[in-house]
Amino acid sequence: MILSAHPVELKMKRAFTIARGSRTVTPSVIVELEHDGIVGTGEASPSPRYGESVESVLSFLREANLGKFDNPMDIDAVLMHVCALAPGNGSAKAAIDIAMHDWIGRKLGLPLWKWWGLDRDAAPVTSFTIGIDSPDIIGQKVDEASNYPVLKVKLGVSGDEEIIRRIREHTDKKLRVDANEGWTSKEEARDKILWLQEQGVELVEQPLPAHQLEETAWVREAVSIPIIADENVTTSADIARLQYVFDGINIKLMKCGGLREAMRMILSAKILGMKIMLGCMIESSVAISAAAQLSPLADYADLDGNLLIANDPFIGVREKDGKLLLQDNAGIGVVRRI
Ligand code: MG
Repeated sequence: MILSAHPVELKMKRAFTIARGSRTVTPSVIVELEHDGIVGTGEASPSPRYGESVESVLSFLREANLGKFDNPMDIDAVLMHVCALAPGNGSAKAAIDIAMHDWIGRKLGLPLWKWWGLDRDAAPVTSFTIGIDSPDIIGQKVDEASNYPVLKVKLGVSGDEEIIRRIREHTDKKLRVDANEGWTSKEEARDKILWLQEQGVELVEQPLPAHQLEETAWVREAVSIPIIADENVTTSADIARLQYVFDGINIKLMKCGGLREAMRMILSAKILGMKIMLGCMIESSVAISAAAQLSPLADYADLDGNLLIANDPFIGVREKDGKLLLQDNAGIGVVRRI
Protein backbone atom coordinates (compact mmCIF):
# COMPACT_ATOMS: atom_id res chain seq x y z
CA MET A 1 0.00 0.00 0.00
CA ILE A 2 1.45 3.34 -1.05
CA LEU A 3 0.09 6.52 0.50
CA SER A 4 0.86 9.93 -1.03
CA ALA A 5 -0.22 13.36 0.20
CA HIS A 6 -0.75 16.56 -1.78
CA PRO A 7 -1.46 19.89 -0.04
CA VAL A 8 -3.91 22.14 -1.91
CA GLU A 9 -5.25 25.60 -1.20
CA LEU A 10 -9.02 25.85 -1.48
CA LYS A 11 -10.13 29.37 -2.40
CA MET A 12 -13.38 30.62 -0.93
CA LYS A 13 -15.92 32.08 -3.34
CA ARG A 14 -16.44 34.79 -0.73
CA ALA A 15 -14.60 35.59 2.50
CA PHE A 16 -16.05 33.19 5.09
CA THR A 17 -16.57 34.50 8.62
CA ILE A 18 -17.80 32.75 11.77
CA ALA A 19 -17.69 33.79 15.44
CA ARG A 20 -14.05 32.61 15.68
CA GLY A 21 -12.58 34.40 12.67
CA SER A 22 -12.50 34.94 8.92
CA ARG A 23 -10.77 33.31 5.96
CA THR A 24 -10.50 33.61 2.18
CA VAL A 25 -8.50 30.40 1.60
CA THR A 26 -8.51 27.06 3.40
CA PRO A 27 -5.63 24.60 3.30
CA SER A 28 -6.47 20.98 2.60
CA VAL A 29 -4.47 17.81 1.98
CA ILE A 30 -5.58 15.32 -0.69
CA VAL A 31 -4.26 11.80 -0.14
CA GLU A 32 -4.07 8.88 -2.53
CA LEU A 33 -3.80 5.26 -1.46
CA GLU A 34 -2.54 3.01 -4.23
CA HIS A 35 -2.55 -0.77 -4.25
CA ASP A 36 -3.05 -3.39 -6.93
CA GLY A 37 -3.65 -0.78 -9.66
CA ILE A 38 -6.52 0.88 -7.76
CA VAL A 39 -6.30 4.37 -6.24
CA GLY A 40 -8.46 5.43 -3.30
CA THR A 41 -8.74 9.15 -2.58
CA GLY A 42 -9.09 10.85 0.79
CA GLU A 43 -8.83 14.33 2.23
CA ALA A 44 -7.78 16.11 5.42
CA SER A 45 -9.11 19.59 6.15
CA PRO A 46 -7.17 20.46 9.31
CA SER A 47 -8.86 22.82 11.76
CA PRO A 48 -6.87 25.01 14.16
CA ARG A 49 -9.83 24.72 16.58
CA TYR A 50 -8.80 21.07 17.04
CA GLY A 51 -5.05 21.74 17.03
CA GLU A 52 -4.31 20.63 13.47
CA SER A 53 -2.45 22.20 10.53
CA VAL A 54 -1.17 21.07 7.12
CA GLU A 55 2.19 20.41 8.79
CA SER A 56 0.64 18.25 11.52
CA VAL A 57 -1.31 16.29 8.90
CA LEU A 58 1.75 15.67 6.72
CA SER A 59 3.78 14.66 9.74
CA PHE A 60 1.07 12.25 10.95
CA LEU A 61 0.78 10.68 7.48
CA ARG A 62 4.56 10.18 7.33
CA GLU A 63 4.57 8.54 10.76
CA ALA A 64 1.62 6.31 9.85
CA ASN A 65 3.93 4.12 7.74
CA LEU A 66 1.18 2.21 5.93
CA GLY A 67 3.80 0.48 3.77
CA LYS A 68 3.93 -2.33 6.29
CA PHE A 69 0.34 -3.32 5.41
CA ASP A 70 -0.14 -5.18 2.17
CA ASN A 71 -3.90 -5.13 1.62
CA PRO A 72 -6.44 -2.30 2.09
CA MET A 73 -9.14 -4.95 2.63
CA ASP A 74 -7.56 -5.31 6.09
CA ILE A 75 -9.16 -1.97 6.92
CA ASP A 76 -9.87 -2.90 10.54
CA ALA A 77 -6.23 -3.62 11.36
CA VAL A 78 -5.00 -0.56 9.46
CA LEU A 79 -7.42 1.87 11.10
CA MET A 80 -6.75 0.41 14.58
CA HIS A 81 -3.06 1.04 13.94
CA VAL A 82 -3.74 4.58 12.69
CA CYS A 83 -6.04 5.36 15.62
CA ALA A 84 -3.49 4.20 18.17
CA LEU A 85 -0.65 6.32 16.76
CA ALA A 86 -1.62 9.50 18.62
CA PRO A 87 -4.73 11.12 20.13
CA GLY A 88 -6.49 13.86 18.15
CA ASN A 89 -5.31 14.33 14.54
CA GLY A 90 -8.91 13.79 13.40
CA SER A 91 -8.48 15.14 9.89
CA ALA A 92 -5.24 13.22 9.22
CA LYS A 93 -6.94 10.02 10.38
CA ALA A 94 -10.01 10.87 8.28
CA ALA A 95 -7.84 11.23 5.17
CA ILE A 96 -6.56 7.66 5.56
CA ASP A 97 -9.99 6.31 6.51
CA ILE A 98 -11.69 7.93 3.50
CA ALA A 99 -8.98 6.77 1.08
CA MET A 100 -9.26 3.20 2.37
CA HIS A 101 -13.05 3.17 2.11
CA ASP A 102 -12.80 4.62 -1.40
CA TRP A 103 -10.27 1.97 -2.37
CA ILE A 104 -12.47 -0.86 -1.08
CA GLY A 105 -15.55 0.55 -2.82
CA ARG A 106 -13.63 0.75 -6.08
CA LYS A 107 -12.28 -2.78 -5.61
CA LEU A 108 -15.81 -4.09 -5.03
CA GLY A 109 -17.31 -1.87 -7.74
CA LEU A 110 -19.84 -0.46 -5.26
CA PRO A 111 -20.61 3.00 -3.93
CA LEU A 112 -20.25 3.02 -0.17
CA TRP A 113 -23.93 3.77 0.49
CA LYS A 114 -24.82 0.61 -1.43
CA TRP A 115 -22.12 -1.45 0.28
CA TRP A 116 -23.61 -0.37 3.64
CA GLY A 117 -27.13 -1.23 2.46
CA LEU A 118 -28.48 2.33 2.78
CA ASP A 119 -31.43 3.82 0.91
CA ARG A 120 -30.26 6.77 -1.18
CA ASP A 121 -33.80 8.12 -1.38
CA ALA A 122 -33.51 8.77 2.37
CA ALA A 123 -30.62 11.22 1.85
CA PRO A 124 -31.60 14.57 3.37
CA VAL A 125 -31.50 18.10 2.04
CA THR A 126 -28.26 19.89 2.86
CA SER A 127 -28.39 23.32 4.36
CA PHE A 128 -26.42 26.12 2.71
CA THR A 129 -24.28 28.22 5.03
CA ILE A 130 -24.50 31.99 5.28
CA GLY A 131 -21.35 33.26 7.03
CA ILE A 132 -21.24 36.41 9.15
CA ASP A 133 -21.17 39.56 7.04
CA SER A 134 -22.57 43.05 6.68
CA PRO A 135 -26.37 43.09 6.30
CA ASP A 136 -26.14 44.12 2.64
CA ILE A 137 -23.79 41.27 1.73
CA ILE A 138 -25.96 38.87 3.75
CA GLY A 139 -28.94 39.93 1.67
CA GLN A 140 -26.99 39.21 -1.53
CA LYS A 141 -25.86 35.82 -0.24
CA VAL A 142 -29.43 34.85 0.66
CA ASP A 143 -30.59 35.76 -2.84
CA GLU A 144 -27.73 33.75 -4.38
CA ALA A 145 -28.76 30.75 -2.27
CA SER A 146 -32.29 30.74 -3.67
CA ASN A 147 -31.96 27.10 -4.82
CA TYR A 148 -31.38 25.87 -1.29
CA PRO A 149 -34.48 25.32 0.84
CA VAL A 150 -32.64 25.44 4.18
CA LEU A 151 -30.08 28.04 5.27
CA LYS A 152 -27.60 27.67 8.11
CA VAL A 153 -26.85 31.09 9.51
CA LYS A 154 -23.67 31.81 11.41
CA LEU A 155 -24.29 33.99 14.47
CA GLY A 156 -22.50 34.53 17.77
CA VAL A 157 -21.48 38.14 17.30
CA SER A 158 -23.03 41.48 18.16
CA GLY A 159 -25.63 42.25 15.52
CA ASP A 160 -27.18 38.77 15.46
CA GLU A 161 -30.73 40.19 15.37
CA GLU A 162 -29.85 42.51 12.48
CA ILE A 163 -28.57 39.54 10.47
CA ILE A 164 -31.75 37.53 11.02
CA ARG A 165 -33.99 40.52 10.32
CA ARG A 166 -32.17 41.15 7.04
CA ILE A 167 -32.50 37.49 6.04
CA ARG A 168 -36.21 37.55 6.84
CA GLU A 169 -36.62 40.55 4.50
CA HIS A 170 -35.39 38.25 1.72
CA THR A 171 -36.89 34.85 2.54
CA ASP A 172 -39.19 32.90 4.83
CA LYS A 173 -37.42 29.57 4.26
CA LYS A 174 -36.26 27.28 7.05
CA LEU A 175 -33.27 28.60 9.01
CA ARG A 176 -30.79 26.85 11.27
CA VAL A 177 -28.44 28.87 13.45
CA ASP A 178 -24.86 28.10 14.44
CA ALA A 179 -23.43 30.30 17.20
CA ASN A 180 -20.01 28.56 17.15
CA GLU A 181 -19.62 29.04 20.96
CA GLY A 182 -20.09 32.77 20.41
CA TRP A 183 -22.66 33.62 23.11
CA THR A 184 -21.00 34.30 26.41
CA SER A 185 -23.65 33.75 29.08
CA LYS A 186 -26.54 31.35 29.54
CA GLU A 187 -28.98 34.27 29.80
CA GLU A 188 -27.79 35.74 26.51
CA ALA A 189 -28.08 32.33 24.83
CA ARG A 190 -31.59 31.75 26.24
CA ASP A 191 -32.86 35.18 25.23
CA LYS A 192 -31.43 34.92 21.74
CA ILE A 193 -32.82 31.44 21.19
CA LEU A 194 -36.29 32.41 22.46
CA TRP A 195 -36.25 35.26 19.94
CA LEU A 196 -34.89 33.01 17.17
CA GLN A 197 -37.71 30.52 17.76
CA GLU A 198 -40.17 33.28 16.90
CA GLN A 199 -38.26 33.95 13.67
CA GLY A 200 -38.84 30.39 12.45
CA VAL A 201 -35.42 29.02 13.34
CA GLU A 202 -35.51 25.21 13.40
CA LEU A 203 -32.50 24.47 15.64
CA VAL A 204 -29.44 26.08 17.22
CA GLU A 205 -25.94 24.67 17.15
CA GLN A 206 -23.38 25.13 19.93
CA PRO A 207 -24.78 28.23 21.67
CA LEU A 208 -22.11 28.38 24.40
CA PRO A 209 -18.40 27.58 24.76
CA ALA A 210 -17.75 23.85 24.99
CA HIS A 211 -16.70 23.98 28.65
CA GLN A 212 -20.10 25.42 29.68
CA LEU A 213 -22.02 22.15 29.81
CA GLU A 214 -24.18 22.95 32.84
CA GLU A 215 -25.10 26.32 31.37
CA THR A 216 -25.99 24.69 28.06
CA ALA A 217 -28.26 22.17 29.81
CA TRP A 218 -29.98 25.12 31.56
CA VAL A 219 -30.52 26.86 28.21
CA ARG A 220 -31.91 23.71 26.65
CA GLU A 221 -34.54 23.46 29.41
CA ALA A 222 -35.61 27.05 28.79
CA VAL A 223 -36.20 26.81 25.02
CA SER A 224 -38.25 24.56 22.77
CA ILE A 225 -36.14 24.07 19.61
CA PRO A 226 -33.38 21.40 19.45
CA ILE A 227 -29.89 22.33 20.62
CA ILE A 228 -27.16 20.52 18.69
CA ALA A 229 -23.58 19.94 19.89
CA ASP A 230 -20.71 20.64 17.54
CA GLU A 231 -17.57 21.88 19.32
CA ASN A 232 -18.64 19.73 22.30
CA VAL A 233 -18.45 16.45 20.39
CA THR A 234 -15.43 14.98 18.66
CA THR A 235 -15.75 11.17 18.79
CA SER A 236 -18.20 8.57 20.10
CA ALA A 237 -16.48 8.75 23.50
CA ASP A 238 -18.04 12.21 24.04
CA ILE A 239 -21.65 11.32 23.32
CA ALA A 240 -22.92 9.70 26.53
CA ARG A 241 -22.14 12.71 28.73
CA LEU A 242 -24.00 15.00 26.31
CA GLN A 243 -27.23 13.01 26.44
CA TYR A 244 -28.95 15.40 28.86
CA VAL A 245 -27.26 18.55 27.59
CA PHE A 246 -28.01 18.51 23.86
CA ASP A 247 -30.77 17.12 21.63
CA GLY A 248 -28.36 16.00 18.95
CA ILE A 249 -24.79 15.98 17.69
CA ASN A 250 -23.03 17.35 14.63
CA ILE A 251 -20.74 14.62 13.29
CA LYS A 252 -17.85 15.70 11.08
CA LEU A 253 -15.34 13.34 9.51
CA MET A 254 -12.55 15.85 10.19
CA LYS A 255 -13.26 15.86 13.92
CA CYS A 256 -13.90 12.17 14.50
CA GLY A 257 -11.30 10.59 12.20
CA GLY A 258 -13.38 9.25 9.33
CA LEU A 259 -16.31 7.19 8.14
CA ARG A 260 -15.79 4.28 10.49
CA GLU A 261 -15.91 6.43 13.63
CA ALA A 262 -18.75 8.51 12.16
CA MET A 263 -20.80 5.33 11.72
CA ARG A 264 -20.06 4.37 15.34
CA MET A 265 -21.19 7.85 16.46
CA ILE A 266 -24.41 7.59 14.48
CA LEU A 267 -25.26 4.26 16.10
CA SER A 268 -24.33 5.52 19.60
CA ALA A 269 -26.40 8.68 19.27
CA LYS A 270 -29.39 6.80 17.90
CA ILE A 271 -29.29 4.43 20.89
CA LEU A 272 -29.46 7.48 23.19
CA GLY A 273 -32.34 8.99 21.21
CA MET A 274 -30.25 11.90 19.96
CA LYS A 275 -30.59 13.57 16.57
CA ILE A 276 -27.85 13.26 13.96
CA MET A 277 -26.47 16.14 11.95
CA LEU A 278 -23.78 15.37 9.40
CA GLY A 279 -21.57 18.41 9.04
CA CYS A 280 -18.31 19.44 7.45
CA MET A 281 -15.45 21.88 7.46
CA ILE A 282 -14.50 23.83 4.34
CA GLU A 283 -13.63 20.79 2.22
CA SER A 284 -13.41 19.72 -1.40
CA SER A 285 -15.84 17.26 -2.99
CA VAL A 286 -13.64 14.41 -1.74
CA ALA A 287 -14.53 14.70 1.95
CA ILE A 288 -18.04 15.99 1.25
CA SER A 289 -18.82 13.03 -1.05
CA ALA A 290 -17.46 10.66 1.59
CA ALA A 291 -19.70 12.11 4.31
CA ALA A 292 -22.66 12.12 1.93
CA GLN A 293 -22.43 8.31 1.71
CA LEU A 294 -23.66 8.23 5.34
CA SER A 295 -26.31 10.88 4.87
CA PRO A 296 -29.32 8.53 4.59
CA LEU A 297 -28.74 7.89 8.31
CA ALA A 298 -28.83 11.59 9.27
CA ASP A 299 -31.71 13.78 10.45
CA TYR A 300 -29.97 16.91 9.17
CA ALA A 301 -27.20 17.44 6.61
CA ASP A 302 -24.88 20.41 6.49
CA LEU A 303 -22.61 19.21 3.70
CA ASP A 304 -21.95 22.38 1.76
CA GLY A 305 -18.19 22.92 2.25
CA ASN A 306 -17.55 22.17 -1.42
CA LEU A 307 -20.23 24.63 -2.52
CA LEU A 308 -18.39 27.48 -0.80
CA ILE A 309 -15.09 27.04 -2.69
CA ALA A 310 -14.16 28.31 -6.15
CA ASN A 311 -11.47 25.77 -7.14
CA ASP A 312 -12.79 22.33 -6.13
CA PRO A 313 -10.23 19.88 -7.60
CA PHE A 314 -12.85 17.08 -7.76
CA ILE A 315 -16.40 16.41 -8.90
CA GLY A 316 -18.44 14.23 -6.57
CA VAL A 317 -21.83 14.13 -4.89
CA ARG A 318 -24.35 16.46 -6.49
CA GLU A 319 -27.46 18.04 -5.10
CA LYS A 320 -30.72 19.21 -6.59
CA ASP A 321 -32.59 21.92 -4.76
CA GLY A 322 -30.42 21.00 -1.78
CA LYS A 323 -31.25 17.28 -1.79
CA LEU A 324 -28.10 15.16 -1.85
CA LEU A 325 -28.05 12.85 -4.87
CA LEU A 326 -25.99 9.72 -4.23
CA GLN A 327 -24.57 8.29 -7.43
CA ASP A 328 -23.71 4.80 -8.65
CA ASN A 329 -19.96 5.55 -8.94
CA ALA A 330 -17.85 3.19 -6.84
CA GLY A 331 -16.31 4.20 -3.52
CA ILE A 332 -16.97 7.79 -2.51
CA GLY A 333 -17.82 8.53 -6.14
CA VAL A 334 -15.38 11.29 -7.07
CA VAL A 335 -13.42 12.07 -10.22
CA ARG A 336 -10.64 14.61 -10.53
CA ARG A 337 -11.40 17.67 -12.63
CA ILE A 338 -9.15 17.87 -15.69
MG1 MG B 1 -20.93 24.22 13.87
